[in-house]
Amino acid sequence: LIQLSVPLNFIGFIYREIRQGLTDIEQMFDLLDVPQEIVDKPGAKPLVVGAGKVEFRDVQFSYDPNRKILKGISFEVPAGKTVAIVGPSGAGKSTISRLLFRFYDIQGGKILIDGQDIRDVTQESLRAAIGMVPQDTVLFNDTIAYNIRYGRVDASEEDVRKAAELAQIGPFIERLPDGYRSMVGERGLKLSGGEKQRVAIARTILKAPPILMLDEATSALDSHTEQEIQAALDLVSQGRTTIVIAHRLSTVISADEIIVLQDGQIAERGTHAALMRKAGLYASMWDRQREATEAEERLRIARESD
Ligand code: ADP
Ligand code: MG
Repeated sequence: LIQLSVPLNFIGFIYREIRQGLTDIEQMFDLLDVPQEIVDKPGAKPLVVGAGKVEFRDVQFSYDPNRKILKGISFEVPAGKTVAIVGPSGAGKSTISRLLFRFYDIQGGKILIDGQDIRDVTQESLRAAIGMVPQDTVLFNDTIAYNIRYGRVDASEEDVRKAAELAQIGPFIERLPDGYRSMVGERGLKLSGGEKQRVAIARTILKAPPILMLDEATSALDSHTEQEIQAALDLVSQGRTTIVIAHRLSTVISADEIIVLQDGQIAERGTHAALMRKAGLYASMWDRQREATEAEERLRIARESD
């Protein structure tokens, strides 16, 4: 519930702003009323993104002073590589994504992008450099084309179509009665979680940011949808520095490093193979997930043979 409070607040904010005709997402983040305490330093310079290396150095953070959420987190995402963050619910995974976006300032340590402390650069330039694909994408009450073009407002129709194709949602859109002009959102067509996520991926493809932050959906998607989303995510993260909060084994297995977060600390880290050999927390999460998948599969087969 607490975790939802920020996005919901943000959603309300977006709708208000959209009605007023504001169309730039970076500007909206700047105007976001949640973390009012975040202001640019006087004379802050724009972030200069080179290769796009991301570093968390002994990061300490709490939402309220009585309860530490991150207790000294250090990791590095070399330019173009992928780091997966896994761990139980409430471990602090989504908090890491909010901190990289500087929704909140940290109480200790540093977050660096290509060596620049994110507190020293303008928020606008920071957010322009990062593409976020959240778990719960919000669609505007507008056309599907508008919703995709949001990633880059000056994109041509052709670019919007290409992005949709790459995000594996092109054929779906073309089958809609009004195609790209179909109205979506609260007062239009309702899209499923997977479809909305693919719209977010299409937006991100248009934005083409050097750094990606993906919060994968936890909700059980059917395996076909999951494969399509996986293909789209693989494509968008290619050659980009990627941090992924991962629930899908396929993502985790191919990550350059896996960080297992538990209770605000890094409990284990390494590649999939190394962590499996270790037979610790990660290995037991993996086994549990495999058992759940196998049980689901048995259930499906049983239903089909009814
Ligand atoms: P995860 O993504 O790993 O499930 P989160 O990073 O969302 O975990 O949350 C970590 C902890 O911080 C949780 O205990 C959660 O309740 C708490 N938390 C998250 N957001 C807020 C907030 N805005 N205010 C206070 N506590 C929060
Ligand atoms: Mg989370």
